[in-house]
Amino acid sequence: APAPPPARHLFSDPAEVEALRGNLLAWYDRCKRDLPWRALAAIEPDADRRGYAVWVSEIMLQQTQVATVIDYYNRWMQKWPTLQALAQASLEEVNELWAGLGYYSRGKRLQEAARKVVSELAGRMPRTAEDLQKLLPGVGRYTAGAIASISYGQATGVVDGNVIRVLCRLRCIGADSSSPAVIDQLWDMANVLVDSSRPGDFNQALMELGATVCVPKAPLCEECPVKQHCQARRRKLCGNSPPVPDVEDCGVGDCPLCPPASEPWDSSLGVTNFPRKAAKKPPRVMRTATCVLERRGCHGAPEYLIVQRPSSGLLAGLWEFPSLPLAQNLQEEKEREELADHLQAWMGQPVVAKGLQFIGEVIHIFSHIHQTYAVYSLHLDGDVTLDPALSPSRWVTEDEFHASAVSTAMKKV
Ligand code: SF4
Repeated sequence: APAPPPARHLFSDPAEVEALRGNLLAWYDRCKRDLPWRALAAIEPDADRRGYAVWVSEIMLQQTQVATVIDYYNRWMQKWPTLQALAQASLEEVNELWAGLGYYSRGKRLQEAARKVVSELAGRMPRTAEDLQKLLPGVGRYTAGAIASISYGQATGVVDGNVIRVLCRLRCIGADSSSPAVIDQLWDMANVLVDSSRPGDFNQALMELGATVCVPKAPLCEECPVKQHCQARRRKLCGNSPPVPDVEDCGVGDCPLCPPASEPWDSSLGVTNFPRKAAKKPPRVMRTATCVLERRGCHGAPEYLIVQRPSSGLLAGLWEFPSLPLAQNLQEEKEREELADHLQAWMGQPVVAKGLQFIGEVIHIFSHIHQTYAVYSLHLDGDVTLDPALSPSRWVTEDEFHASAVSTAMKKV
């Protein structure tokens, strides 16, 4: 078995743990933000509805800012206030409501899981983190812990990006925070720290601290309710004074949680020395030709053709202008010809490449893809018959386009 980590990286003093819990919860009671899912979870007497309300918020909050989520959350809960209501929704409706929130598979999986709870679990949400993770598709360890602690009072910790930052700073953990060794350590720590009488509040307090005080770039250490427990701050305050053994790294190279010897503590960074991550892979560079096909609708208003993407993969099931991924470094003429061929297959009639008007480029950054859309337009005089054997397609007005399940990238186009 690997040797236990050095004590400075742990919370091994019960008195300190107790004091940290008390300070953090008192701060949370004073300073917590009013958020709709918190209000709902606090007043909802029905346990399944409470679990559902927290679940929806947690899925929406993954990789999305709180300020963006609030409006989506309110509209979602108004439209589908219960698991049963969501289970009856169509994927199209889910995608329409989710449009603009990004990471679209989240909405789809939420709905699939709701159907499973209704059809296989008699509408009853699993009550523990273990069962939530085991039984609900799309519910990982973090989401399961959040639902179980906030909705059902299970004393189980959670580790998300905010918690990683706070814990790495509190305990000077400078090894790669995405490595399995560090992540395991952080989960153990979160489980030790969680307050068994108020686990949901404690977990939310730790996350709230990371979101509002212990922020990535300029943490507000002087206002921090747990500053007296923070090893990173202690180390920063020591500055250039003679080394104090318990604020130094454990020893060059042999501690799995200290910064690597090749990247030691940098005093110009202060507490933001922690956490550290291995360098990210650069995003994949892609170029896609897309064509805004326009015709006069029956009332004279312009209409645009949108087509549905495949039901799996990036932006699954969303609608877009007819688009074609391109090989890198194609000449513009070739790009135009390939797009014309692609459109011809859609419309069953010849499309002259020269008739495509180049409008400009739109760049959109997905999490792992740097996508450039080369945008063309084409006005159609007569009617066209779309090939029903191809993906679903439809003509929409501008207003209908904006109400459809289209991605932010397509709205930019
Ligand atoms: Fe974060 Fe500063 Fe508080 Fe430490 S003292 S937990 S670095 S805000």
